[in-house]
Amino acid sequence: MEGLASARSRDALAFSVLDSEVRLAILDSLYERTVASGPLAGNATYSTIKADVGVEDSGRFSYHLDKLTDRFVTKTETGYRLAEPGREVIRLRRTGAFTDDPSVEATRIDGKCYRCGGGIQAFYRRGYLVTQCRECIGLIDHELVANGTLASLSYPPSGVSGIDIETAFERSHLRSAHTFRSMADGFCPNCGHDVAITLPPADGENPGDDGYGFRHVNYDGLIRFACTHCGRRHIAHPLYAVGDRGAMADFFTTNGIDPGWDRIATVMSWPVTVGDAELVFEAPDGVRFRVDDELEVRRE
Ligand SMILES: [Zn+2]
Ligand SMILES: [Zn+2]
Repeated sequence: MEGLASARSRDALAFSVLDSEVRLAILDSLYERTVASGPLAGNATYSTIKADVGVEDSGRFSYHLDKLTDRFVTKTETGYRLAEPGREVIRLRRTGAFTDDPSVEATRIDGKCYRCGGGIQAFYRRGYLVTQCRECIGLIDHELVANGTLASLSYPPSGVSGIDIETAFERSHLRSAHTFRSMADGFCPNCGHDVAITLPPADGENPGDDGYGFRHVNYDGLIRFACTHCGRRHIAHPLYAVGDRGAMADFFTTNGIDPGWDRIATVMSWPVTVGDAELVFEAPDGVRFRVDDELEVRRE
């Protein structure tokens, strides 16, 4: 694993460059001066950044600025700009992913459980936005997951800080739709590498070691997306993941079922038959949707 080891030392070096409040203050200043004001905003001069950061000693300030230059900051003829890696650092810091750990108590949400029709609630804990039924066992059967869990989505702390839980609930499910669509199109929205799509094991078949995830859901019609590079994995409903394409787009539009919880609850309530490399869902009124392992959907 020499590749991983050398990447590790390179990554450690990059992170170590950020281990300084003065350097983070330089990035913040450059963000306000050259990014927040517009995508093609100008440069910030040395003296402007220095004044923003409030370091009097020029030697000390230059030392820190030099450490950032080339990788996180670009030096131009007239000043400095925030390079893309510097912008990524700002974005990541502002999600609070590494530093914040907010909790939001379970709150009643306007919507119904797709399993039992009971009331649902949402809470936020340890980086996950969880949708939970108050009246049944829910979808996920795992010791680390609360009883009645219907969905558990990784969501940034910033998404529930100063934003009410009901809005966060809607946004987290819309965000998952975007993620699933990208993965249904064959690539990871996180890293740009290929995504493998796995259908659940056919009735009576053992999911095997690779079937982790499938063993812990109380519904047979879910598929797994797995990025081959960064390891991003999701268990998703295939008809939700392709909700913007062909037969499913027509169905949802005709029936006025918007993306988000309503759409998820709709498809999750349909009975499914698991076949060899295909899933067949039965919608009301006798409509059937047949999905193959490339997520092509046929309406019958
Ligand atoms: Zn329920
Ligand atoms: Zn990835």
